[in-house]
Order: sequence, then structure tokens, then C-alpha cells
Amino acid sequence: MTASAEIWSHVEETTIGYLGKTMKSPLKNAATPIRPSVWSPRVVIIGSGVAGILCGIMLRAQGIHDFIILEKADRLGGTWRDNRYPGLACDVPAHLYVYSFRPNPGWKNRFAAGPDIWRYYAEVAAEHGVTQRIRFNEEVLSAHWSGASWSIQTSGASKSLEADILISAVGRLQHPKYPDIAGLDEFSGKVFHSSRWPDGVDFAGKRVGIIGTGSTATQLTGALAPIVKRLSIFQRTPQWVLTIANPEYSWIQRTLYRIFPGLHERYVAKLKQESRAAVEMITGKDRTIIRSMCESGLASVRDPVLRQKLTPAYEPGCKRIVMSPDFYERVQSDSVELVTEAIDRIEAQGLRTVDGTLHEFDALILATGFKADAFMRPMSLTGAGGTTLDEVWKNGFLNYKSVAIPEMPNFFMINGPYSPGGNASVVGIIEVHVNFIMQCIDYIREHRLALAPERQTTERLLRRVREAATDTIWAQGGCSSWYLDKEGIPLINPLSIDELRADMRLPQFGDFVETELEAG
Ligand code: NAP
Repeated sequence: MTASAEIWSHVEETTIGYLGKTMKSPLKNAATPIRPSVWSPRVVIIGSGVAGILCGIMLRAQGIHDFIILEKADRLGGTWRDNRYPGLACDVPAHLYVYSFRPNPGWKNRFAAGPDIWRYYAEVAAEHGVTQRIRFNEEVLSAHWSGASWSIQTSGASKSLEADILISAVGRLQHPKYPDIAGLDEFSGKVFHSSRWPDGVDFAGKRVGIIGTGSTATQLTGALAPIVKRLSIFQRTPQWVLTIANPEYSWIQRTLYRIFPGLHERYVAKLKQESRAAVEMITGKDRTIIRSMCESGLASVRDPVLRQKLTPAYEPGCKRIVMSPDFYERVQSDSVELVTEAIDRIEAQGLRTVDGTLHEFDALILATGFKADAFMRPMSLTGAGGTTLDEVWKNGFLNYKSVAIPEMPNFFMINGPYSPGGNASVVGIIEVHVNFIMQCIDYIREHRLALAPERQTTERLLRRVREAATDTIWAQGGCSSWYLDKEGIPLINPLSIDELRADMRLPQFGDFVETELEAG
């Protein structure tokens, strides 16, 4: 069996349910395309993270070889390239954080370390001939629809490119959110955002400050507390933390999973079941179990004053639940202090809180999260009739099922605004989106046309998503988070992965405006 046929037969059986049905014939023949009369469009993908790599793999499997991936950095990997902080890991079980057609029996831990995840995706990209299709140091500055194709301007050597289809795979959490704190540039030591980790820093024996207590700060705390002289964590809002062990897989386990794929499949199926139950526990109506699990971790904090400081005043699941094997243990270390007084300003020696205390340190890490509402920025996009993305998004992120935008013909995005989220695995969501987009591309090829979602249909569907999103823990749980837009409505579709899969299994082409393209 050829590599691409193998992908599809796997995908058919596993995550992407639809593929076997309608695309069976073209995809089966993807390795040696048997539809030479079908137009092969030029495709440009922006970004070489988990989504961009998958697009490349699937285009090849579909027999489209005229594609490139434009990557602004000098390495692939998206978030797993940008984030390099000590302690970086993924809180989704590693065996579920993979493409469905490429299981990895060799994960070392239940929750994989960041570099191991990066390596997996780099390996898969190489295995499927995608790496050589990436042009590095090519940031897309603008893209303009000419009526028949996209003209793309980049910052790199390509400068200007033409594409029939443009796919944005830029990721949702890529722009660091720097805190607006007076004196930030007056600090005399090193100060940097967690996703911009500098080379060669050594914190052994140093005094370090961390602003924030989200997933990132918690992982940093686990890694830094044992080595620093003093760690000051500046907490604005306590987080619900689920204490969860991160056991290693023994050599024997890994070998058995490799030798007996059926055994590995059974294990992955069990993890999937547990994961579905966990998502339901966090986002479902009855949250008593998740609350009691979080509270039992919190109860391990011996000092009642510290425990009180760490106790959130909102519902668990409202912000993304932080998963950590050791946060409560580390925060009780002698070398760690949790500062809850509000930050007044930053000075040359450290950070002054509003009670007048100066907290001195040698380095300050901003674990302050990302600008989730800066999606696809600062790239400028101009679609049909000169309509810009800024105009379409003037009153919010109008988009069709998180993958397409009205007035933007033959433009697709992956994991766009209102994608499902919370504590679910983003890889499954990306597969559903890419599968949907590939069907659209097949339709575009077959009929040689430009597709853009119809505006009123898009508005109607999005209204439904927003209504559903208001009745969720993210909106009702009494917290603020990066999930919420300016009106306090979550930018997340509450569909479960199974519901999303059913909803996006087959494109409804009636929801799109079709424009015929002339044969070139
Ligand atoms: P985050 O969840 O947005 O947390 C940012 C933290 O910084 C919060 O504690 C926030 O406090 C604090 N903060 C922000 N601005 C501040 C200011 N001006 N003054 C004081 N505190 C401030 O960011 P993150 O921890 O980087 O995580 C972001 C997302 O990345 C996660 O939700 C997750 O999706 C992903 N992530 C995943 C993993 C994983 O294991 N899968 C690991 C890391 C990150 P408030 O709560 O008061 O706003």
C-alpha cells in the first residue's frame, strides 16, 4: 500500500469518519492521481504547525502537489516551536495528541514534554514529504483576491506569489499578551514573555519572578522551584488546578505497544473514553465531581492562609482547568512565595506591589498568556470586491464553522474563532477542519470555481453558536478568561468533538456562493 493510501485507510476507520465515503475514490488514487482532467490548483498554506503540516499531508494524499507552506520562522512546529520554557508539556494525554493515522506507541510520558511533541510533528512532516514544501522566514504580509486567484506578499525571498486557494493555519495563541504594567522597561534584569524564551538562560541559584498563574506559569513553577534561590509568583486570580500524575511508560509498555498495534489501539480507545468523560465532567452541567477533585488537591496545602489565597471564587472549568502533577507541592516549597497583592509598578530591582513592598529578583517571566483575539493579525486580507478582513470582522469574528469567511473566496482557515475548545485536544478539531476543507478543495477542483460562504447563512449559523456559547461554563462560571470576546461571549463553539465531527462531516455547498473560474 502506498503511504498516502495508507493514511486514508486509517483516517477512514478512525477520527475522520466521512472520508471513506465520498472521497474514497480520489484519495485511494492520490499517490498516482487518476483524475488528470481535474484541474490541480496552486495552494498556499500559511503556517507549519500541527494544522499546516496536516494540510500538506492531506493535499499530497489528494493528488495536489502544487502547494507550498509559508512559515514566518526558521523552523516548523507552531506553538511547539515557539514555546521552549522549562517544564513545557501538554496536558492532553500524548497518545491522543497525534494525527489519527499516525499513532505513536513510543511516548515516554502520559503527558508528553514539549520537545517530544515537537519531534513527533517534525518526524511526521518529514515522513510525508511535507518538510521540503515549507519556505521558512516567509511571513505573509498581505493577500489580495484578484477575482480569480490570490496574490500574496511575503516578507521573505518569495516576495510575491499567486495561489488559487489560500489556507491559513496560523494558530490561535501565537501573539504574546504583554501586561500593561508601568515601568516594565525599567527592570535591570532579564524580562521576557514565556513564549519568547531566550537562549542560554540559567536560573540555578537566581531570584525569579513569574507574573501569572495559568497553565504556563504552573508548569514553569514545577520546573523552576527546585533550582532557583527564590521564586515569586504574582497571582491576580487563583486558578482551579487538577492534581494529576504524569507517569512514565516503561520500556516494556512502549515495546509491547509497538509490537502489538491492537494492544496499543485498545489502550488509546480507553484513553479516548476517559478523555470524553473528563471533558463532560469539566463542561457539563453537573460539575460536582471536578470540583471535589480540584478541592482535594487544594486540601493538600497545609497553611490555611495560603490555601485561601489559592482558592478561586468562580466555578471550576470557567477558565481552562490547569493540570499539574506538582503545583500545590511546589508552591509550598521554602523557595516559593505566592504574592497576591496587586502589582503597582516594575522598577530596576524588581516589582513593587500596591502595599509598598519591593519584591527583588534577577529575572522576570511574563506568563501572561496570548492575544487570542489577534487571530490572523497583522496579515492584511482583501477579498472579493476589495472587501477587507477588517471590514468583515468589524463587529466580531464573522465566519463559517471556523473554517471560512464571507467575501473571501477560496480562502480557508483552520481552528478559527469559535472552534470548539476548553480542555479538549486541538488535534482532533484540526483533523475535522482539514477534512472539511479538503472536500471543499475537491469540489473547487472538480467544478473549477471559487467558493465563499454566503453572508446571511454565515450570520445565522454564527448567531446560533453564540447563543449556545452563552449557556456554558465559560460564560456562566463567574470568571474572565481569554475565551471571552469584548461582550463576554465565549469565542468557543460548545460542540463536543463527536458533535463537531457529525456537523462537519460533509460540506453543505448550498451554504456557499459559487463563482465560476475561467480555465487558465
Ligand atoms: P493564561 O491562561 O491566559 O494565563 C495568563 C495568566 O497571566 C493568568 O493568571 C492571568 O491572570 C495573568 N495575567 C495576565 N495579565 C496580567 C497582568 N497584567 N497582571 C497580572 N497577571 C496577569 O495563559 P497561559 O498560562 O500561557 O495559557 C494560555 C493557554 O495556552 C492555555 O489556556 C492553554 O490553552 C494553552 N497552554 C496549554 C498548555 C498545555 O499543557 N496544553 C500549557 C500552557 C499553555 P488572570 O487570570 O487574572 O487574567
